[in-house]
Amino acid sequence: MKYLDEFRDGQLARQLADRIAAEVNPNRYYRLMEFCGGHTHAIFRYGIQDLMPPNVHFIHGPGCPVCVLPMARIDQAIAMAQQYSITLATYGDLMRVPASHRQTLFSAKAAGADIRIITSTQDALTFARQTSTRPVVLFAIGFETTTPPTAVALITAQQERLHNFSVFCNHVLTPPALQAILTDTAHQSASIDGILGPSHVSTIIGSAAYQFVTQAFNKPIVIAGFEPLDVMQSTLMLIRQINDGRCVLENQYQRVVTTAGNCKAQALMKMTLKLRPQFEWRGLGWLANSALQIADEYAEFDAEQRFAVTIKPSEEQRGCQCPSVLRGQLEPTDCPLFGRVCNPENPLGACMVSSEGACAAYWNYGRRA
Ligand code: SF4
Repeated sequence: MKYLDEFRDGQLARQLADRIAAEVNPNRYYRLMEFCGGHTHAIFRYGIQDLMPPNVHFIHGPGCPVCVLPMARIDQAIAMAQQYSITLATYGDLMRVPASHRQTLFSAKAAGADIRIITSTQDALTFARQTSTRPVVLFAIGFETTTPPTAVALITAQQERLHNFSVFCNHVLTPPALQAILTDTAHQSASIDGILGPSHVSTIIGSAAYQFVTQAFNKPIVIAGFEPLDVMQSTLMLIRQINDGRCVLENQYQRVVTTAGNCKAQALMKMTLKLRPQFEWRGLGWLANSALQIADEYAEFDAEQRFAVTIKPSEEQRGCQCPSVLRGQLEPTDCPLFGRVCNPENPLGACMVSSEGACAAYWNYGRRA
C-alpha cells in the first residue's frame, strides 16, 4: 500500500536496528516515553522493543483519549441518556469503557437508553436532522486531532439552526498533559531521557507547541510518525541527541507535520471552543487549562448546560492500575489483574478496552503476565 508499505520495510527496519545498536552507549540506559497510544501499539505490533538493545526502554505515556477520560464523565453521559429523552451519539470505542457500578454505555443502552454508535460527527448531525423534535447529544472526546470535526459540527448546527443538536464536550489538550508528567519530578521527569512526541495531534497544533519540553524541562523531543520505521528513526534521533548532550525539538514526521500546524483547523477550534479552567484526567488528576468547552457564542449547543445531571462520586474498579499505567509508572503486566481477571473480553479498565490502550497493546501483541 503506497505511503504505508515503504514505512514498514523489514530490511530497512533491520538496518535502523543495527544503527541504533551501534550508536547506543552500553554504559547507560535510555528511557524514552512515547506519548501516544498509537506509538505504543506500533512498538508492540511490529516488535520494535525486541529490535532494541536491552538498555533502550520505552515508557508508555497517557496518549489515549479514551483511557484518560475520567469515569465521572462516562457516568455523566449515562445519566444524561437515562434522565432525559435524548439520543446520545458516541464513538464505538467508548461503549465498553467501565463506568461506576459495573455500568458501561452498552449496558445503559441494553437497559433502554437511546445510545447510538457513530463513526463521525456528521452521523450525529444526520440524527438531529432526521428527528428534529428529539434532542441529539454528541459525546465528543479526543485530543486536538479530533477536535476540528466537533468544531465543524457546531458551526453546521448553528448555520442549519439544528436546535435539537448539542455537544457533551470532552476534548482535551496534549501539551498540558505532557507538562504535568514532566513536572511530576518525584516520579517521572528524572526517569525520562527523551520524548517521542505526538504525531497526528501535531498535524493540527504544529510541532512548535512542544518547544516547552526542551526549554522548561531540558528534555529532547522528536515528533514521531506512527509507522514502525517512523518510530525507529525517531528513536535513533533521540539517542543521538542524548549521546551528544543536545536537547532540541526535532520533527521526524515532516511529511505531515509542520511547525505551525493546520491554521484553518485551529481557527475553527478557536471560534467554537474555549479553554476549560480545570478538567480531570484519569491518572493525571485535575489539570488547569487542559481541556476545551463550548464557547459562549455556541452556548445553546452545550449539552452540559442543557441537560444538567447530578451524579454520585465515581467508583473506580478496585485493583485497576490504569492511573499508574497512564503516568508511565507501571507496565500493564505489573497490574495484578492483567490477564487473570482483566482481558479484552472482560475489560476492567479503559486501558484494556481502547484500541490505543497500553494494556490492550500488551495483550494483543503477546506480552502477557
Ligand atoms: Fe486496569 Fe486491566 Fe490494565 Fe489492570 S490490566 S491496569 S485492570 S485495564
